[in-house]
Formats: sequence, C-alpha cells, structure tokens
Amino acid sequence: MPTVAPQFIRSRIGKVCVAITGTTPAEMLEKALAVVKDTPFIEFRLDYLEKPLAALPKFKHFFSENTAATGIATCRRSANGGKFTGTLAAELEILIKAATSGFHIVDLELESAESLKKADIQKLRDTGVAIIVSYHDFSATKDLEGIYQRIQPFHPDFYKIVPTARTLTDNVTLMRFIEHMEDHSNIIGICMGDAGIISRVLGVRAGSAFTFAAATTGEETGPGQIAARTLIDTYRIEQVDAATKVYGVAGNPIRSSLSPAMMNAAFRRETVNAVYLALQTHKLADLLKLVHEIPIQGLSVTMPLKQEIMAHLEKTDPLSTKIGACNTVLRAQDGKLYGFNTDVAGIVGPLEKRLSLRGAKVLVLGAGGAARAAVFGVRDKGADVFILNRTPETAQKLARQSGSKTIKKEALAKTTFDVIINATPLGMAGQKGAQMLEAKDLNTKLVFDLVYNPIETPLIRLARQQSIPIITGVEMFVQQGARQFEIWTGKPAPEEEMLRVVIHALRQQAETAPESPEPAAKTKARKK
Ligand code: NAP
Repeated sequence: MPTVAPQFIRSRIGKVCVAITGTTPAEMLEKALAVVKDTPFIEFRLDYLEKPLAALPKFKHFFSENTAATGIATCRRSANGGKFTGTLAAELEILIKAATSGFHIVDLELESAESLKKADIQKLRDTGVAIIVSYHDFSATKDLEGIYQRIQPFHPDFYKIVPTARTLTDNVTLMRFIEHMEDHSNIIGICMGDAGIISRVLGVRAGSAFTFAAATTGEETGPGQIAARTLIDTYRIEQVDAATKVYGVAGNPIRSSLSPAMMNAAFRRETVNAVYLALQTHKLADLLKLVHEIPIQGLSVTMPLKQEIMAHLEKTDPLSTKIGACNTVLRAQDGKLYGFNTDVAGIVGPLEKRLSLRGAKVLVLGAGGAARAAVFGVRDKGADVFILNRTPETAQKLARQSGSKTIKKEALAKTTFDVIINATPLGMAGQKGAQMLEAKDLNTKLVFDLVYNPIETPLIRLARQQSIPIITGVEMFVQQGARQFEIWTGKPAPEEEMLRVVIHALRQQAETAPESPEPAAKTKARKK
C-alpha cells in the first residue's frame, strides 16, 4: 500500500513542481531559494550532482530552514534518461538517505523498481517517504495502459507517466487516459516534446496530480518543459479548470512564437477564463482532430497552414477568400469552423491611423502571404499599389489578381510613394540577404516594416535616418492579435497591455539569443 497518506502530501503541494538542476549542491540550493517562496514544491535532480550522497546533509539543512517546502528526490539513472551513472544499489541508497534528509517524496524509475528486490523496495517504503514510480518514453506516446499495469504492482503514491508527443493528438491520448482512470488523483501525466506543450498546461485539467516546470527558461529537464513563472503567470495554470476555454496558435515552428505571451496577457487583463497554447504541428489533420477533441474555441493559424486550412472552414470572410489565406479560426457552438483574416486589419488599421488610403500610392515589397494581405487590404481601401518581388512572376500574378502594378527596382529612385511596406523576411533576426532598398529608394512619406523581430530593423533605421515616419511590425502583430481577441471574446482587446508584453518578450529574446546575427538591435534593446 502507499506509504504516506496522499492527502497529507496533496495538502502541501500545488499544481506546479519546479525541477531544480545544478552541478553543485550550492548551485541547486541557490536556485531553490530563489523559487521556494513562490513555488514551494521542488524536485531536486540529484542525478545532476557528481556526489549526490555526500550532498544530502546540505539538502537536509535546506528543508529544516524551509519548512513549507515539499521536496522530491530524483536520481534517475542514465539508462532511463537521467544523468546518474552509478549502480542500482547506489541509486537505492541515495533515495533511502534522501528520505531521511527532509525529502517528502522520492522518484524511482519503473525500470529500477522492476530490477530491485521486493525487500529493497520495502526498505525505501519503511522510511515513510511517499514514492513516485516513473516511466519516460523518449520516442512515442503508446500503450499507456500497459505502462500503468507495470507500475501498479509497486502501489506507489504517484504514477508518473511521461511519453513523447509526436503529434498534437498524442496529448489527447494522454489526457483521455488520465480522465478514464477510476482514481486519477495519483497520476502525473505529461507529454514531452514541442508537440506536447498542451499537456503541460491541460494535463492538470484532465486530472494529472501536478506538472513539472523548469526553474527558468534554459534550465529545462525535459524536452518542451515550460519555466515555472511562465506556467503560473502566462498560462495561469493554478486557475485552469474544466470551464477554461482553450485557444492556440498552430503552425511550425511555433516554439518562439510571442502569441501565447500576448494573448494570455490579454485574457488575464480582461479576466476571460481562457488559456492560449502553442500548438506545434505541420499536419492539418492532426490540428483539426485536436480542435474537435479538446475542444479548442479559436485558433491563430500561421505557416505552413494558412492556405491549407481554408478548405476545411464552413465559411470565411470575403478578404480571406480573396487572399486565399486565413489566420484566425473561430469554432462555433455547433463545432463548425469559421475563418477570418486579421493580418489585413493588422496592416490597414495602423496605416489608416496615419493617412487616408484612398488614392494613396503604396509600394509593397514581397508577394508572399503577408504581402497578399497588404496588397488586397490596401487595394480594398482604394490605394494604388505597386509590387516589387524577388521573383517577378509571383509579383505579376499578385498584381493581376488584385488590380495592382509591378515595378522594377531601378525605377524606385525616380518614384515617390505615400507608403512603402516591407512584406519580405529581410531584416528579420537570423535572416541572411542584402536589403532590397537603399537610401535613394526611400522617396516616401511613411515606411511600414512588417518584420517585428527585431523591433528596430535595418529598414526602420534607414527611414529614421532620413526622418521618414515609421510603423514597426510590432504594431501589426499586436493589431492582428487584438482583432483575433475581439472575434473570439466579443470584448475590446487590451491593446496597450498586449503591446507592453510583446515588447518585453522581444527584448528578453534579444538578450537571451547570443547567436543572433543582429548585434545592433541587441545593443539597442539593452540600452532602453
Ligand atoms: P512568405 O509567404 O514566405 O513570403 C516571403 C516573401 O519574401 C516572398 O515574396 C519572397 O520572395 C520574399 N523573400 C524571401 N526571402 C527574400 C530575400 N532573401 N530577398 C528578397 N525577397 C525575399 O512569408 P510571409 O508570410 O509573407 O512573411 C513575410 C514576413 O512578414 C515574415 O518574415 C514576417 O517577418 C512578416 N510578418 C509579420 C507579421 C506581423 O504580425 N508583424 C505577420 C506576418 C508576417 P520570392 O517570391 O522570391 O520567394
């Protein structure tokens, strides 16, 4: 039978356990002290230490000083995905000693449990510590019931089952498994991997006893793990319940999308009981299954799904139909999906705040998805549009479809515009390639760069140097998101809060990306 009354443990813990790593006990304890006040439920990854056994007195001291802290001792062996290279007997010795050093819970891998003698496991149990028996599948989400059956003979206090999500629907498999267990209060279920991020937030809603988080971004102990502060502040995991509506941004890659930070901030500010998740997928069928299974109330759609999703929507607004792409999906009560294109509003809205588009002469650089939104959007408002693209044929096709003209690079120096819009990735952090425009080409009253990372692109700098007014891509990003918020909730979007969060996230990204080839932008961001 389980050793510690689960109720006793449960009354001490929240929904988030912070996994702490470090190469020395001092480093781990310093990190623990930094989080313990906010998140007193902590897993110490003893397997990251060179000499875990010798370090235990220091942890004992920590628990005696921090009586509100609840600690899990984990010493996962390398064969099971951890870092401990010692023997099974040594792992057992460490866990037994941990149990008498203030730890409330120990994590024993299923593989270790199966290799130990019953009497050895009894020794661990006799310490009175609560036991997690854990199983990690680093390749797939399969046979969860079978894993549960293997853990069951050990009668642990918690069953930790951690498969890897290869698809979004693997999360559904895990959540359904937890929901269908007769008593799921002792199950911890999480899917690893970028596609498994949903399970790290919604797993607790399905009944997972708690979830694991990284101490900070960059200190993840499992693929796809989210930092504790992000789980608590951005995703508001402590408030996620059965009534929480689920939204998300779908595409590939989605890992560094700023949409979750922005949209969750908007939901929090407007006290909407909703959570917005990153849905990593390149397969539309996978996404659509998730939308109907969870169910998801609304989607932001990005590359590569913006065009493909059109065929699966009940109805789309006229501009989405013209552009042939949709970035916003609303799921109606009957389950039917409706499509909108808020990229257009994200471009036209900021422009109309500054000038009348009727009869305005607009140059659009690029002929891809964003350019199509720009061209059709400003044409719809009566602008006279010129398109310049690396591949002239694509520009010509878009010009024909939208009633615009194409223009050659050589003609720019002699032509004046009211607005120049950059809808190519040129200037984006990490993007290689010479700039399309030089100073002599900027004969315009306004420059709008749709690229938003970095905020200050080379084109924006060039315009500023010539005292030309600018609009940054951040404004488009916030505006397209604000319109999505309004479509989904029917409430006005908290645009200022959304802008604040996006700028903060961009500055943080710039500071934590040393490999970024955009040193000028980084210096600028730091100075501010
Ligand atoms: P896309 O569909 O892939 O189109 C990219 C366009 O840029 C194509 O016309 C392409 O020309 C051109 N291009 C690509 N690399 C180039 C290079 N090295 N030199 C010259 N032209 C190049 O991409 P998209 O979805 O339109 O997005 C374009 C950019 O808009 C993104 O990178 C993003 O920064 C920005 N954007 C911003 C927001 C926002 O909310 N602020 C939203 C969406 C997009 P070819 O036809 O010759 O390939």
